[in-house]
Amino acid sequence: MNQNTTDKVKRFEKGDCAENKVFYQAMEEVIYSIAPLLESDPKYARYAILDRLVVPDRIIKFKVTWMDDSQNIQVNTGYRVQFNNALGPYKGGLRFHPSVNEGILKFLGFEQILKNSLTGLPIGGAKGGSDFDPKGKSDFEVMKFCSSFMTELHKYIGPRMDVPAGDIGVGAREIGYLFGEYKKITSTYEGVLTGKPFVFGGSLMRPEATGYGTIYFTEKMLEIEGKEPLEGKICTVSGAGNVALHAIEKLQQIGAIAVSCTDSKGTIYDSRGVDLCLLKELKLERRASLEEYVKSHPEAQYIPIEEYPEGAHAVWDIPCYAAFPCATQNELTDIDAQNLIVNGCVSVSEGANMPSTPKAINDFLSHKVCFAPAKAANAGGVAVSEFEMSQNAAMAKWSFEEVDEKLKITMQQICTRVALTAKDYGVEGNYVDGANIAGFKKVADAMIAEGI
Ligand code: NDP
Repeated sequence: MNQNTTDKVKRFEKGDCAENKVFYQAMEEVIYSIAPLLESDPKYARYAILDRLVVPDRIIKFKVTWMDDSQNIQVNTGYRVQFNNALGPYKGGLRFHPSVNEGILKFLGFEQILKNSLTGLPIGGAKGGSDFDPKGKSDFEVMKFCSSFMTELHKYIGPRMDVPAGDIGVGAREIGYLFGEYKKITSTYEGVLTGKPFVFGGSLMRPEATGYGTIYFTEKMLEIEGKEPLEGKICTVSGAGNVALHAIEKLQQIGAIAVSCTDSKGTIYDSRGVDLCLLKELKLERRASLEEYVKSHPEAQYIPIEEYPEGAHAVWDIPCYAAFPCATQNELTDIDAQNLIVNGCVSVSEGANMPSTPKAINDFLSHKVCFAPAKAANAGGVAVSEFEMSQNAAMAKWSFEEVDEKLKITMQQICTRVALTAKDYGVEGNYVDGANIAGFKKVADAMIAEGI
């Protein structure tokens, strides 16, 4: 590892810009993971791949002004971090959430490079978004914000340049408004965004892809590691958004019992299994709090977030065979990891991006809990996004079954590649190192071949 990179990690440790904390957390994990690869092949140091990889190609930052329903002018900040396009056009979601800042998007964009590489598909890494909060806004306000956001963003994206998708706070509604504005400004009808509604170019199964993909990955990982399958087992899931809902749906389809979900205010524990119809109605139609769930199911438990001690989360204190953090970054701490381990949890798979803290991951690995890191386990979303790009380019429509089958095969291939890479580099069973080495190697080899 060359001195520059070590300095970057040290700067973080001394408290470099707080905003960058999560970015350095992600970067540090990768740097330590890929040490065996860097040591075994000097060409990566010779070409300064690591130093080049941790700096985004460009960060675009812009002002977004829009008018709310009370005729007040509102101002937000928009971003697009185009990180690396060695393997294909920049690709990665847009996040609309008040917590969004440059550091969070750098962390997500950096992770996206390696995740996209693991899919084996021709896509580079990027991420974007805004500190705009769609929660509590009317459809017209969301539409006006999206139009204004795209007025600036359209200059930097294109089907062969950069293809954004959804993430937290950006679902089919937001993608629809963003696409409509892009079409209006450019007078082109092209696959510049993925996650579009099916009626105008979206792929079947894109909404399900990340959640379903996480379960497909976990089934394969348990098989490789010689553990019992998920069927009939108690599973805990956090989140109640796109990823969590579809992880729960797939768990139910394969006969597992998903007993929990969470939102930013609290946790639902329903020991008979979560009522998915009700959950979808609450979150997708009414955009309501999970507190409402117990009105229909008084036998279930609602635990408000403030009722739990700091640093611990009710959802990870529920005994389970497999856990699926699917809400947000750093939502599973070392205290949570200890609770899961003590309660006999065998497998943890990250549906969200970097939901487990570094200490929690170390605990899982040292206690031989099967641990599927986000960049491998949640790659199903971006894989189906790439399928959407392929369908758009060919003006084709694939059936639900066709996409589902391709997704399943992709997730199984990723899992096998990660497991084999870990074995090849002497860290068998460590899917974190396996994913980082396999993802890094492919991008690095492309960067070397493309010159500086
Ligand atoms: P959604 O916006 O659909 O849902 C996010 C869920 O997480 C909501 O239930 C939200 O609660 C909850 N949440 C958000 N912030 C917090 C917090 N600080 N504490 C507790 N709960 C919180 O997002 P997605 O489901 O799309 O994304 C979830 C995760 O998966 C993110 O990490 C995202 O980056 C990652 N991901 C998503 C992909 C996709 O295809 N959508 C692809 C790959 C990764 P509330 O309802 O109260 O807001």
